[in-house]
Amino acid sequence: MNRQSAANNQSACGQEPLPPPDLLPHIRPARNLDALPPYLFARIDAQRDALLASGADVISLGIGDPDMPTPRHIVDAMAVAIRDPKNHRYPDYAGSLSYRQACCDWMRHRFGVELDPVNECLALIGSKEGIAHIHTAFVNPGDYVLAPSIGYPVYSGGATLMHANTWFLPMSAQNNWLANFDRVPAEVLALARLLFLGYPNNPTGAVATNEYFDAALDFCRSHGILLVHDNAYSEISFDNYRAPSLLERPGARDVAIEMFSLSKSYNMTGWRIGFAVGNATAIKALATVKNNLDSGQFTAIQDAAIAALSGPQDSVREMCALYQRRRDLVVTTLRRLGLNCETPRATIYVWAQVPAGLSSAEFTSQLLARAHVVVTPGSGYGPDGEGYVRISLTTPDARLEEALERIGALVWN
Ligand SMILES: *Cc1c(COP(=O)(O)O)cnc(C)c1O
Repeated sequence: MNRQSAANNQSACGQEPLPPPDLLPHIRPARNLDALPPYLFARIDAQRDALLASGADVISLGIGDPDMPTPRHIVDAMAVAIRDPKNHRYPDYAGSLSYRQACCDWMRHRFGVELDPVNECLALIGSKEGIAHIHTAFVNPGDYVLAPSIGYPVYSGGATLMHANTWFLPMSAQNNWLANFDRVPAEVLALARLLFLGYPNNPTGAVATNEYFDAALDFCRSHGILLVHDNAYSEISFDNYRAPSLLERPGARDVAIEMFSLSKSYNMTGWRIGFAVGNATAIKALATVKNNLDSGQFTAIQDAAIAALSGPQDSVREMCALYQRRRDLVVTTLRRLGLNCETPRATIYVWAQVPAGLSSAEFTSQLLARAHVVVTPGSGYGPDGEGYVRISLTTPDARLEEALERIGALVWN
């Protein structure tokens, strides 16, 4: 018995009686939990819940979660895989070699990018998991993470959980919503470890150019920063636009890692499966963190994901056609109502300007109170989102049409 367990044993025997409960020190969560920003959509959620409790018929255009089921052939592959006893044991932590091979084959077919499945690819329990844990792999307390001023909250939340800081890169319509990394102060740059970007972009629907990606890679190369590209919407695009992989750019894997998700491409948000590809040092560091924190994803889910990546892609094309129809309906209706919006070439979102004189929060609150329609206030993503709302295209057609009619009645009256 070692000293630690001997000591525990002693107090468990009651030789030193425990003080009464009110004299015990309080357990206290870590300080960095208090430093996480308050949940920005809490007020809207509370308003929605009150309406629902009163029996109102609320339509949500707020969530980015596909309304269509996972394609049949993927579910069928899961049904077979779940019966296979070899899948009932601990998974290979980095992902099964066959899953990683399927990810790399997909990267080659889809983008022409050649990757080594052992050293340049890692299975993720959803890409959110990889985005969160890359901080643990690269960020020290007091360091900086560079993140778009409007974006996925995990980029900065992961930094906060590592006792690190986030420097927010400005975004604007004038800049085509491409996060601007030209004016980061030298003292921040000296401590910067990660740069997060994500195009096609949630919430703005913006897409990036090759020139922008090249500039970001140069920037990261000259400052010793790992570029983390969150490519969750690579497969959801319209009007013959096909989103690229950052890894197509020359030299990208010297300084970059890219996170892919099957959630939006294959309607698999509930399954929790994605992968990281790119720089071998970054993959290895992320794998080390994961080896210490989780034990990988259920191998049957990886088998189903292989069916998704290597099987027929008709479902992806059909889904894009569906979202494109909904996008056109939303964009046409909003413009008819005098609300400005770009026509997004990718993602499941329309990023629309609110009527003059109203803030994002005021417009969102009015839509909810008077039309019983939920949209997401742009300001909830960061100050640069003020003046905009995000409308999600993941609502069944009839409900989406009804929501747009209600918005029309409200804006006209
Ligand atoms: C949906 C989404 C993700 C990822 O999702 P997982 O379900 O964790 O794979 C990552 N980034 C952005 C910007 C998203 O919108």
